[in-house]
Amino acid sequence: MKVMKFGGTSVGTAERVNRVADLTIQSFNEDPSGVCLVLSAIGGITDMLIDCAKTAESDWNNALEKFNAIKAKHFEVYGAELQNPQAKKDAENMFTELYDIYRGINLVRECSLRTMDLIVSFGERLSARLMTAMIENKGFKVTFVDARNLVRTEKRFNGARVFFASTHEAINQFIQQGQIYVITGFIASCEEGITTNLGRGGSDYSAAIIAAALHVEKLEIWTDVDGFMSADPRLVPDAFVLPRVSYEEAMEMSYFGAKVIHPQTLVPAIQKNIPVLIKNTLRPKSSGTIISKQAGDGDHPVKGIASFAGISLINVQGSGMVGVPGVSGRLFATLAKADINVIMISQASSEHSICFVVKTEQAQEACEVLKKEFESEILARKIDTIEAVDDLTMIAAVGENMHGTPGIAGKLFAALGTNAVNVIAIAQGSSERNVSLVVNSKDAVKAVNVIHSSFYLSTRSAHLFIMGTGNIGKTLLSQVSGASKKLFKESDLSLLVCGIANVEKMVFDRKGLDVERWQSILDEKGEPVDLDMWINRILLMNLSNVILVDCTASADIASRYTSWLEQGLHIVTPNKKANTMGLDYYKGLRKLTRDHRLHYMYETTVGAGLPIINTIQSLIHSGDTVTRIEGILSGTLSFLFNRMSHDFSFSQVVRYAFENGYTEPDPRDDLAGMDVGRKLLIMAREIGLNLELDDIHVKALIPAEWRQLSMQEFWQKLPSLDEQYEDMLNAAHQENKVVRYLAEIQDGKCSVQIRTIDVQSDLAHCKATDNIVRIFTHRYVETPLLIQGPGAGREVTAAGVLADIISLAFHLN
Ligand code: ADP
Ligand code: ASP
Ligand code: MG
Repeated sequence: MKVMKFGGTSVGTAERVNRVADLTIQSFNEDPSGVCLVLSAIGGITDMLIDCAKTAESDWNNALEKFNAIKAKHFEVYGAELQNPQAKKDAENMFTELYDIYRGINLVRECSLRTMDLIVSFGERLSARLMTAMIENKGFKVTFVDARNLVRTEKRFNGARVFFASTHEAINQFIQQGQIYVITGFIASCEEGITTNLGRGGSDYSAAIIAAALHVEKLEIWTDVDGFMSADPRLVPDAFVLPRVSYEEAMEMSYFGAKVIHPQTLVPAIQKNIPVLIKNTLRPKSSGTIISKQAGDGDHPVKGIASFAGISLINVQGSGMVGVPGVSGRLFATLAKADINVIMISQASSEHSICFVVKTEQAQEACEVLKKEFESEILARKIDTIEAVDDLTMIAAVGENMHGTPGIAGKLFAALGTNAVNVIAIAQGSSERNVSLVVNSKDAVKAVNVIHSSFYLSTRSAHLFIMGTGNIGKTLLSQVSGASKKLFKESDLSLLVCGIANVEKMVFDRKGLDVERWQSILDEKGEPVDLDMWINRILLMNLSNVILVDCTASADIASRYTSWLEQGLHIVTPNKKANTMGLDYYKGLRKLTRDHRLHYMYETTVGAGLPIINTIQSLIHSGDTVTRIEGILSGTLSFLFNRMSHDFSFSQVVRYAFENGYTEPDPRDDLAGMDVGRKLLIMAREIGLNLELDDIHVKALIPAEWRQLSMQEFWQKLPSLDEQYEDMLNAAHQENKVVRYLAEIQDGKCSVQIRTIDVQSDLAHCKATDNIVRIFTHRYVETPLLIQGPGAGREVTAAGVLADIISLAFHLN
């Protein structure tokens, strides 16, 4: 004898009910000892029945429409069976009775819990009756069973406790070997014959009760997914089927919201040691999940993650609770008396507060009964707060092997921390089989995904979203493609480019784009770009360890960093704009990264790939104080002053640099010195100076008014400066000096200007497009710390961005 349960998801369409009938018959043919087919209402019908009853309390016309929709749904799914005269008559009788009940509700304007239980029973009764007809039509003898005649419960509505002894007796008396039975799931009756039920989703439990009563070898639960999965597949796209799950794991997961089985289902199965097999009606050949005594071998410590929304946290707080025995006893007794189910408890060790979790629909009542119970303590100010926080979701990480595996909670909370998910309350079951926590519902999907990937992806993954496909972005993409295989092999780090955007288009792929083909993918699949949409789409993916890489020079993009960090996205950029905006914005950025363990990395904003920012930060973190910085910070201007001589005039060198791509598209951007000014400001802020861009004294290499000229006029005017620069070079030469465009921070002041420098100085030996920075500190007093090398160019800059990305990814979980 076999018990097979098919849920609402398996009886949602005419095609699906047909599959259910075929699978039942196939099973009976394979094993003629008999089949008990336990059936749910058509998917969605229970909700429709309830909704119609509530509507009938006040609005008959609307209720009538809903009633007709319920009827129509049955005709849609079981249309063929409703041709069978007997089935048609039975169904019509049921619809007439249901109509009368709704009419009655409308007359008295009230639907009691008892009536509601009667109403919802029609869902299973109709479905099972019509399935009986369907199997009969296929030529098999089959018996329809109204489970109200078998399953006995207490007299309580909307989920009653089962009386096992009388239920088992009734089942064993009625069910005979060698038959096919179609049995209504979910519904039951109490001793007086009044209709009750086993609570929402209770058909699984009905099946388990029948399986236990009949001592069957195996209970099959057929649904619309391939088995018990590591997380709810609707929330976690990477969830996968678990081949073996222990009873305890399945029980904890379903208690914490894994809807695939009703939490109580396993109790009868455990008692009789009956394995439960979860199968997919739509893919019967897939192997499914076995739930039994044993968990799988070599399982991850965390087997699954479950969550349920719609909970509230109630906090009872007051100094008068400290050391007073019995407060929690009274508290929980009061809640129990009011039938309020406490889902999770966490007590502060000071006993100063107790917080616990209940369903939101019971939260107000919980506060009221507690306020009444502790009235005198409240008056005496021994308890000052009893309040509920709503819109919360509970999440549990469950696994048999968590027991005795150190560091699980640490890893879990670190993963949430680096992804900016705030945890509101925590509890660990003493069995160490679960860690549960409460988060704001708005963070829930992300939290579940973050925990899932931190425990299941065998490698560390960072998900990159690259903005800008100009020189740096393009080069970075090709470098990522080259570096990622090695990183994966040698360091267990997987860098996935999950999105690319440029000024025109954007493209996404949560599994990682093929970076070697990024250009054609963007051309072919790219959607029109929109910055808000870009971020929304990224957030909707709910990936962990998301790094936005801004390879643009856009101030608009930079001004959004704070809001992106607030959403838990890390940022890496060579864009100087954010660090040189107003001081308030800059400080806001720092505060966010500090407070939320987020990362904002910008090494390449000064000196391209040279380790200037990191060096300054390391000096400061190790307790040193930077007293002075001087340097040549523009590759373009470095080239200019290296090349200028008797043979090459100022204007000729500018032209040459322009023609060879060493300048910005408009060379005035370099000659104005502002780019160097920005770099200097970034360093100044790094060493703690509270300066604005206006505070940087920048002396341009060309008159300010040349900004207004056309390019042509500019080129015409440029030679007028040649003499002045030649004089300057000659004067310097005579004193054994060279001319350089120097950036300096000293005594809290910043300047960028032309200076003559002794030929012996390091600053004079700066070659080609090199940058050089001399850092004087309390430790580096006589001789400065010197950093020198190419300070511009797409390869070195992109490599610096990649280095930031990799070091950030190693920080993540
Ligand atoms: P049925 O109607 O068959 O009883 P349910 O809707 O009650 O189906 O339960 C199946 C659904 O449970 C799946 O469609 C899936 O979305 C959801 N679910 C939630 N958590 C899990 C999980 N851990 N594994 C599998 N399914 C899950
Ligand atoms: N039809 C019931 C419900 O929707 C029982 C079940 O499907 O298991 O809750
Ligand atoms: Mg279900």
